[in-house]
Amino acid sequence: MNKVHLSGLLPAEVTSLLQELGEPAYRGRQVFAALHKRRLTSLAEATDLPKDLRARIDERATASTLTLESRYVSEDGTRRYLLKTHDGFPVETVFIPEERRDTICFSSQSGCPLQCSFCLTAQLGLLRNLTPGEIVEQVIVALNDAYGIGSETPHGTNLVGMGAGEPFLAFDSVMKALRIMAEPTGLHIVPGRVTISTAGIVPRIRELATIPDRPHLAISLAAPTDELRDQLMPINKKWPLQELLAACKEFEKSLKPGETFTFEYVMLDGVNDSEDQARQLANLLNRHELRAKVNLIPHNSAAPLPYLPSPPERVERFQGILESKGVRALVRRSRGRDIYAACGQLAARGAEKIAPALN
Ligand code: SF4
Repeated sequence: MNKVHLSGLLPAEVTSLLQELGEPAYRGRQVFAALHKRRLTSLAEATDLPKDLRARIDERATASTLTLESRYVSEDGTRRYLLKTHDGFPVETVFIPEERRDTICFSSQSGCPLQCSFCLTAQLGLLRNLTPGEIVEQVIVALNDAYGIGSETPHGTNLVGMGAGEPFLAFDSVMKALRIMAEPTGLHIVPGRVTISTAGIVPRIRELATIPDRPHLAISLAAPTDELRDQLMPINKKWPLQELLAACKEFEKSLKPGETFTFEYVMLDGVNDSEDQARQLANLLNRHELRAKVNLIPHNSAAPLPYLPSPPERVERFQGILESKGVRALVRRSRGRDIYAACGQLAARGAEKIAPALN
């Protein structure tokens, strides 16, 4: 793409682009608001800008680079979007409507280089990192689809960086996209409304802790021992549990009053859900004295992954053991499972490729 992707620019960058075209600063603000507040996907629709200016901007820059390939709506209202980058790579985004707030789950990479054995995205491998503009645009596409271009959203929006990819391997793109989306003159989704999930890229956990206006952090744990985590999440061989939890302890110092961070624990039938493993997990977290909560996520089966979700009684038992040892634990309800929009299921599947889930 030779043109500048406007959605990936901060207000000051839009202004300097307009100034290079000989325009005053307020034109930059107008363009930024057209893209992020009014969520226009083409400047052709920004009829408050002179026509010749729109044509001149168009020679240098474009508002949007993603194209919508397919859209799937779940029986629970969750929507999954399969988008394509200008160079042909798949991008997936999930919109989860909730009574008080909507949540948009965005992707940070096309595919993912990490090989978590319970995740369909892993099977794509890394195709490439997404740019800041491609991250911002996913949110704009989802809001426009749910509410119409330019319409006020009835609820606030939470963002989770838990779609395809490891956000900490696309760190600069993600952090810039979050700064753009936090702008009060644009989408105005502040970092306190954003949670980024990592498989455990330890140096980035430490780096995130130093950023004053940072999003919340979630860590995908999946196992209480190195032996099992090495198998389920091979990144553990590089940064084993001891190092990961030491970084979490460090991160804890940056928590604001009332803020906790979260461990995500996908529950795989007969693999990581025994009573012993619950005790091991509680002991591990207690040993590090972490102010964290654990989200228990029943696995979302998807052929050809070799796992089944833990039965509800076992999830409940696991939760009970954690709680009895003083570890806060919640069971998360999966959304959008029937359209392959749930956690670990994003693998650029089209409708024709959707096979019945095992559960
Ligand atoms: S769980 Fe996340 S980090 Fe692991 S392979 Fe899937 S997308 Fe990548």
